[in-house]
Amino acid sequence: MCVLPKAGKHIAVWHFYIGELVEGRKAIINSVAKERIEILFRLAEKVYPEDSKLAGSYISMLNSIRAHYKVPAPSWVKNRICSVCSSVLIPGLNCRVVLAGSRGHAVYKCTVCKAEKHVRYKKADGPGEI
Ligand SMILES: [Zn+2]
Repeated sequence: MCVLPKAGKHIAVWHFYIGELVEGRKAIINSVAKERIEILFRLAEKVYPEDSKLAGSYISMLNSIRAHYKVPAPSWVKNRICSVCSSVLIPGLNCRVVLAGSRGHAVYKCTVCKAEKHVRYKKADGPGEI
């Protein structure tokens, strides 16, 4: 049996409670989505040398989870996926990494589609993203 609060000041308390529940639910959904994104990326990274097609399907699943739940992928995942062909960037296998020391970024060049990704590794006030 559901007991609803009476009208008056209890309504404000009830709304606060529901708002707290919604916030808690969002936090749980975000944490589960981030965990799944990381698991899918690690699977894609592991499988890519043997089956690049399967790795591509893992990446497309990752992108659909990211889009559905509106959760940003962690930067270390985002930096390791080619934005043009959506393949997992594995240095020495399908990408080349060149450090541009004077500019403070690394250039990840995808050997599949020749796209370049610039990732900062130097920050003015602390360590970078790599
Ligand atoms: Zn690419």
